[in-house]
Amino acid sequence: MNIGRPVRQEPLLVPDHEPISGSRMWQVEDGRLFGPARGAGWPPGGPLWAWCPRASLHDERPVPHARCTCGIYAMRSAGSLGRPAAIAARSWAARWNPAFVLGEVHLWGRVFEHDLGWRAEWARPVGLYRTWDPSLDVSMQELLERYGLDVRVRGEDEPPRQLVPA
Ligand SMILES: [Zn+2]
Repeated sequence: MNIGRPVRQEPLLVPDHEPISGSRMWQVEDGRLFGPARGAGWPPGGPLWAWCPRASLHDERPVPHARCTCGIYAMRSAGSLGRPAAIAARSWAARWNPAFVLGEVHLWGRVFEHDLGWRAEWARPVGLYRTWDPSLDVSMQELLERYGLDVRVRGEDEPPRQLVPA
């Protein structure tokens, strides 16, 4: 996921009751969501807390770190997912295993703002974009129920929120 260049060097501190909304892709395996390339497993029913796979570059916390690429990634707009969006639609239709899905995610905690997206400390999926017909696929229904997700129509991006650095 290419989130572009950092907008500023200091992180935003985003409260959990006022999260940032972003778009991202997941890999689906055994009815669970994973980061692309068999990344972190996203726990059903709870948020994901970022950790750094290259933690030798800096202290264990805080994550995301200013001089690293760690954090949970999301794009500002579903439109800028571009090629991943096409891959996701195709993979699900073709029943690839693993398949890919796109959806909306809420981000909070320590968040670095980039021009195309964010890398965040905490994240929770809130909806999957309708790039398939969910009524055709039982396992997708299970996925929606397991994570408590809605089906969203892609392209209904919220207007960008004015964010103030901490
Ligand atoms: Zn790091």
